[in-house]
Amino acid sequence: MARAGPAPRQRRRRGPYSSLVPPAPPTPGHAVTGAEAAAAAAAAERGLRLAARIVLSCARSARLRRGAGSPGRRAASRLRSQRCLLPPDSLHLSGAKVSPGGCCFSDFGEETRKLFGKRGGCSWRRERWGSLLGIVRALSPGERLPPAASPHSGGRNSLARPSQPRCGGGAPSQPCRCCRNLPGAATTRSDTSGIARFSGTMATPRRRTKKKASFDHSPDSLPLRSSGRQAKKKATETTDEDEDGSSEKKYRRCEKSGCTVACPVCFASASERCAKNGYTSRWYHLSCGEHFCNECFDHYYRSHKDGYDKYTTWKKIWTSNGKTEPSPKAFMADQQLPYWVQCTKPECRKWRQLTKEIHLTPQIARTYRCGMKLNSTTVKRVSEVSNHWWYSMLILPPLLKDSVAAPLLSAYYPDCVGMSPSCASTHRAAGSTSPGKLEPSKAAPSAPAPGMNRYFQPFYQPNECGKALCVRPDVMELDELYEFPEYSRDPTMYLALRNLILALWFTNCKEALTPQKCIPHIIVRGLVRIRCVQEVERILYFMTRKGLINTGVLNVGTDQHLLPKDYHNKSVIIIGAGPAGLAAARQLHNFGIKVTVLEAKDRIGGRVWDDKSFKGVTVGRGAQIVNGCINNPVALMCEQLGISMHKFGERCDLIQEGGRITDPTIDKRMDFHFNALLDVVSEWRKDKTQLQDVPLGEKIEEIYKAFIQESGIQFSELEQQVLHFHLSNLEYACGSSLHQVSARSWDHNEFFAQFAGDHTLLTPGYSVIIEKLAEGLDIRLESPVQSIDYSGDEVQVTMTDGTGCTAQKVLVTVPLALLQKGAIHFSPPLSDKKMKAINSLGAGIIEKIALQFPYRFWDSKVQGADFFGHVPPSAGKRGLFAVFYDMDPQKKQSVLMSVVAGEAVASVRTLDDKQVLQQCMAALRELFKEQEVPDPTKYFVTRWSTDPWIQMAYSFVKTGGSGEAYDILAEEIQGMVFFAGEATNRHFPQTVTGAYLSGVREASKIAAF
Ligand SMILES: Cc1cc2nc3c(=O)[nH]c(=O)nc-3n(C[C@H](O)[C@H](O)[C@H](O)COP(=O)(O)OP(=O)(O)OC[C@H]3O[C@@H](n4cnc5c(N)ncnc54)[C@H](O)[C@@H]3O)c2cc1C
Ligand SMILES: [Zn+2]
Ligand SMILES: [Zn+2]
Ligand SMILES: [Zn+2]
Repeated sequence: MARAGPAPRQRRRRGPYSSLVPPAPPTPGHAVTGAEAAAAAAAAERGLRLAARIVLSCARSARLRRGAGSPGRRAASRLRSQRCLLPPDSLHLSGAKVSPGGCCFSDFGEETRKLFGKRGGCSWRRERWGSLLGIVRALSPGERLPPAASPHSGGRNSLARPSQPRCGGGAPSQPCRCCRNLPGAATTRSDTSGIARFSGTMATPRRRTKKKASFDHSPDSLPLRSSGRQAKKKATETTDEDEDGSSEKKYRRCEKSGCTVACPVCFASASERCAKNGYTSRWYHLSCGEHFCNECFDHYYRSHKDGYDKYTTWKKIWTSNGKTEPSPKAFMADQQLPYWVQCTKPECRKWRQLTKEIHLTPQIARTYRCGMKLNSTTVKRVSEVSNHWWYSMLILPPLLKDSVAAPLLSAYYPDCVGMSPSCASTHRAAGSTSPGKLEPSKAAPSAPAPGMNRYFQPFYQPNECGKALCVRPDVMELDELYEFPEYSRDPTMYLALRNLILALWFTNCKEALTPQKCIPHIIVRGLVRIRCVQEVERILYFMTRKGLINTGVLNVGTDQHLLPKDYHNKSVIIIGAGPAGLAAARQLHNFGIKVTVLEAKDRIGGRVWDDKSFKGVTVGRGAQIVNGCINNPVALMCEQLGISMHKFGERCDLIQEGGRITDPTIDKRMDFHFNALLDVVSEWRKDKTQLQDVPLGEKIEEIYKAFIQESGIQFSELEQQVLHFHLSNLEYACGSSLHQVSARSWDHNEFFAQFAGDHTLLTPGYSVIIEKLAEGLDIRLESPVQSIDYSGDEVQVTMTDGTGCTAQKVLVTVPLALLQKGAIHFSPPLSDKKMKAINSLGAGIIEKIALQFPYRFWDSKVQGADFFGHVPPSAGKRGLFAVFYDMDPQKKQSVLMSVVAGEAVASVRTLDDKQVLQQCMAALRELFKEQEVPDPTKYFVTRWSTDPWIQMAYSFVKTGGSGEAYDILAEEIQGMVFFAGEATNRHFPQTVTGAYLSGVREASKIAAF
């Protein structure tokens, strides 16, 4: 599970893709013994993968280094309903395979064999987790390098510049089969076998381009290889005119089959002998409206002609930066075709052709005005561009010049991501030596573009994987292919425009991105620019609908809807004004769709509820932490609002009752054992013969007992207490006692790319975002919905007071706990499948306490850390105030916040606030026994479990359940009833981010219906 707390003890977190980096060595000098140390590397390595999700609970600290399960990602089929631009490679990451040649379980003792439920034989030989985990590692040799990260897995790597490491293993001198086929590997430049088609995605078919230039025997490419005379001969042989015996021709048709032009005109006018619109021995076809004559071809291609130097200079630059063949046609398209620009006068809007010496700039495109009438030929050529067939007759895809995306994509071949290799912006980083070889450091992933928020990393870098909401710049995702199937043959134009749009959006996310703002940045020669301008609108609308751009707290005026009119004629009722409901409402409202939000409470926000009554600090009674900021929509909204977050520090000392700070070696040792326990759980569940799910708590206890028994290790009382501290963090993460949680699926979402990067405290509180999302929306507070009738043509929603309203669609975002209790009556009733899924998830609960003190009594001991841990004195008390957060990053105000989790939640339910406060103060006085701890001047205790409209904190998978239930919850009914909320987001459950994204997802679905 990923969960909702901070990551106070986040020490060596490396994120869910940490499997790409070598495991951290065991900490020297800590108390783990020899065999443990050996296994520690393995455990730590996996642990890191889990890191991101865990952060929620500071307690998670431990989990930050642990990891159960491999970092898999979502299944392709689910891409449809989620934000679909996640990397499809993730498919491969779900679970390492057991190597047939791996060790057998005969190394395990009887008890442990039973736990694994298979293979037996030898006795338990080694004593420690080290041996257990060592074997476990041997059984999972493939885990460290997820397939997606390897070039074997697909197109992204193959399109990276060649200096990128290409093979996850094996000596470079002995490339594996896959590597040999990689386009771009030094020896395979013209190899055509490795076009990345992977999991339904489509890589830029640059290889096809090259093949055409090199080997294609079509009339188009032949002359590129033959002499002018040969070309003339062949052409002569095939023309009708020749059949009648005539030797003098007035003109010649273009030989490209399907070309619609009767009398081509040479656009190049480069040679003095240019055929212009007359006879040439051969026409070179670029598009149906663009040809050049054989004389102009010779002008650049023949070494004794004037244009040769220009061509060779260009060729050199192209070769050193690009990947496609530097052919004369590419030269003409890149350097000689005229630019087309549209007159900006509203009453004109005609397309004009600039002379070829004029380089189009965004400035010219923004301001161009014509004064002349277009001649009819030009008009015809322009109008033809819109035809469906025109694009199929285009020989070379458009490669944008000076694309805004260039700084973000410098590690790729420009022509593989829709950019021209010839312009300065796409030149390889200065200082790299051999052409096409980019030093790894230069291609280092994740370097933000200048001026861009560092949390915005919309594009994967070569060899990167596992980052949520990140796209491959060289690959169309499945949902893109569904929407734009015409680009499946050659996705370059789509990629060029999509990458440009994403880069423009993340460069300025405070304003809506419109087609008009994109168009001036489409700099490409030829008629294809007209086509690009037409296409950019469609692509932009698609990305807007999906919530990839023009999202967050953006608030557009009623006359500036983000989607065209066809989308507007819908009405939607949204039930619940939490993050999910408000996200959907904001999106739909911005699209131009009529939305009404019905909220039961007298306030918006749901489980976001900030207390601003403490002096100088905002304390979230509900959410306040952001778990992984890279590409997190919360980070986007903070940027839009100009809010900065506080990045949590790593330090989190564990203080024992009595006041001692736990020796770091004990802390590390028990952290290690805790992670090892979870690692064994994840090995256990790989065994598919173990059909039965069991509670996570039970499984951990079972493994722990077997280990103690077989290893003979005795943990001290303190060590056991520290272990309980870690378990308590896990309970905080799950929002439940471990005895309710599924051992099989407790961390189901870890199989999908999770949010990487910093874990932060949203100091001003989530409500700043919530309020902005809600601005200008039709929200009706104190309107609790009692029933939804969708048996007719419209949905009828009735409130508890009997009043009602109707709409075409309804979006339900109420908390899972209320769905479980049937708080809303559906007619017809929800299907058994849906009810089963609803009941297979758990409505987790935690409570918070916050206290303001007259002064910061903890400062000298805690030394500026953002949190400190409380080692529970016994197992029975482990959920009570396990971590204390210092709520003022400036370290001026004196406010602490802590959490009650696990079994302890039930114990405080019967207490009144004052009694809970007393327990908390007693704990603090134990932790700071050496000093006077003042009484708080102010405090609050939350009661989420008894809040009638919430009744929970966040969801988890109950024993016997699975992550699939989240998807089933999200399924819409008859195109009328839709569901959003944190418990409908399989990839990102439990969090505000997940709730928000589920709202965006449903808005997209509703708009498309
Ligand atoms: C103590 C606590 C700490 C948390 N910490 C974090 C954290 O640090 N980071 C993080 O990301 N997440 C955290 N979370 C989780 C996060 O708050 C939730 O995941 C998120 O708010 C869920 O949003 P939602 O829109 O799905 O549901 P909600 O926010 O619950 O919104 C649902 C709305 O529906 C309304 N409603 C219910 N029934 C009806 C009805 N019949 N008619 C009309 N309206 C109705 C409710 O009043 C509510 O406003 C925390 C939660 C809690 C409780
Ligand atoms: Zn010519
Ligand atoms: Zn032609
Ligand atoms: Zn004009």
